[in-house]
Amino acid sequence: MPAHDVLILGAGLAGQRAALAAAQEGANVAVMSKVHPVRSHSVAAAGGINAAIDPSDDWRSHAYDTVKGSDYLGDQDAIEVMCSEAPAEVMHLEHIGVTFHRNERGELDLRAFGGASMNRTAYVADITGQAILHVLYEQLLKHGKQVDRYEEWFVTDLVRDDAGCCCGAIARDVRTGRVEAFTAKNVILACGGAGQVYHPTTNGLIVTGDGIALAYRLGAPLMDMEMVQYHPTTLVENGLLITEGARGEGAILLNSDGERFMERYAPNKRELASRDVVSRAEQTEILEGRGVGPSKDGIYLDITQVPRKRILEALREIVNVGRDFAGVDITTEPIMIRPGQHYIMGGVKTDIHGATPIEGLYAAGEVACVSVHGGNRLGANSLLDTLIFGRRAGVHAAKRAAAMPMPSVAHSHVLDQEAMISAILARPAGAGRRISEIKAELGETMNKHVAVYRDEDGLSTALQTVKRLREEAKTAHIDDRGTVFNQDVLGAIELSYMLDCAEATVVGALERKESRGAQFRTDYPDRNDEEWIKHIELTISDDGPDVSYSDVTVTQWQPEVRTY
Ligand SMILES: Cc1cc2nc3c(=O)[nH]c(=O)nc-3n(C[C@H](O)[C@H](O)[C@H](O)COP(=O)(O)OP(=O)(O)OC[C@H]3O[C@@H](n4cnc5c(N)ncnc54)[C@H](O)[C@@H]3O)c2cc1C
Repeated sequence: MPAHDVLILGAGLAGQRAALAAAQEGANVAVMSKVHPVRSHSVAAAGGINAAIDPSDDWRSHAYDTVKGSDYLGDQDAIEVMCSEAPAEVMHLEHIGVTFHRNERGELDLRAFGGASMNRTAYVADITGQAILHVLYEQLLKHGKQVDRYEEWFVTDLVRDDAGCCCGAIARDVRTGRVEAFTAKNVILACGGAGQVYHPTTNGLIVTGDGIALAYRLGAPLMDMEMVQYHPTTLVENGLLITEGARGEGAILLNSDGERFMERYAPNKRELASRDVVSRAEQTEILEGRGVGPSKDGIYLDITQVPRKRILEALREIVNVGRDFAGVDITTEPIMIRPGQHYIMGGVKTDIHGATPIEGLYAAGEVACVSVHGGNRLGANSLLDTLIFGRRAGVHAAKRAAAMPMPSVAHSHVLDQEAMISAILARPAGAGRRISEIKAELGETMNKHVAVYRDEDGLSTALQTVKRLREEAKTAHIDDRGTVFNQDVLGAIELSYMLDCAEATVVGALERKESRGAQFRTDYPDRNDEEWIKHIELTISDDGPDVSYSDVTVTQWQPEVRTY
């Protein structure tokens, strides 16, 4: 049975950064991923990564912007860690080979991004995630002796020992169907977010909330799950992302009257207010009949303001996206966009070392909730979050491993997972609904009722639907009964993960009876600092999530009225 000091589940930016850090601490490390590591969703990150690098900038200003962006729900100790360590982390990336864009003076160029009080987003054209992910992967290859890679292995369960500590995971080899136990002194979850719970979403098909559900089922608390980010600029046709970098470079938003309406909603920052503010403004324009397009459900993003040469240099991927997916040449005409699901601020609760309340279990990246994003994440703060807390989790886990013996995982856990998969394979053909149908209904329900605007009625409807879909998912049938690359059986398991995440999100949204950050309740339209500066935590029970609260850590920034 494979045994490791640190087993990292997920090989996006958080997982690879954790692996590198743990290996450099001398630990014996393994990274596991259900797809080839460089196909992780981090590869799609476009716009950039924030750090107060400019000599006239200060990490405290970055931290303040992040706290304000979070609508005062972010934990300020964690935000201070992230922002103060950001410049060194970005320089580290540069030194290991990430080709960040430079200005005419040869210095790192920094572009404007939403909610930031100055330009502090380092970028590689609009392929920043890809550039960083590939460089980290090279570094892992360099540490090949210390880092085992289990590529195309799908995790189905986490294991606890008698003392309650996490001591490994069970996974299925996607290529052969073999199920195996992996023993570990520490497990770091780096499984990414849960965007596929929604339809449409900017997230890749593999982003199905696996890590969140695995931790929740093991008994770890989830936090801030009600906070789901809608990005202001996603294609009306299919939800693909048009990076905030476009607005950072000077693109503007127009309604059907040709009005630059953000001047009314955020007179100072306009298109570069934080994402929750811009998405809400767009949705209001659409609801009040000033949307564009045949169904009047879009808004124009006009990038023609930006010089063509600059577009081709700094936004070349979205030139392709506009042409290939909307038939629009963004250098000469506006493109139709609308708010769409993009990111989840919530996740598995951790401390500033990435440790969860379960000994031996860590989480970092989008799967985790430290919480640095609180009610709303600033653009380009997520790549930073994955790297800072990925690294910290890797270091902490490696140190913990040095002081303990290797645990063991009983073979019965493998048998349990084999039985779970056999039961899926044995479902009679044609008996239940198709997985794709259930998934589509889930996504559309969430996008209708748990979106930019929410209320009690809609959320209750969503909760009932999720509960029904959970029953239907138990008998959903699959077509492929083979062992080699059986994506059907994995789809059935992913669906169960997504339903856990959806339930947690809806329960959290029902619980929070106020409007803050990404949660706007039309039945409770005001922010209520007296009662609601607190995190909602959800723990598994037989009747669904058990709700409790925890304090928000405030270090130096008291809540203020939030205007942009
Ligand atoms: C289109 C797009 C553009 C973005 N642009 C930016 C940007 O410019 N700046 C920014 O800061 N943020 C951006 N974000 C957000 C940011 O990219 C993500 O939050 C971040 O990359 C998540 O990284 P991660 O390492 O946590 O997870 P991911 O990169 O999603 O990796 C998850 C890993 O977990 C593995 N995994 C999951 N489940 C299992 C399982 N059951 N078994 C085994 N392995 C599993 C996957 O294979 C994968 O390796 C963007 C997001 C999207 C979708």
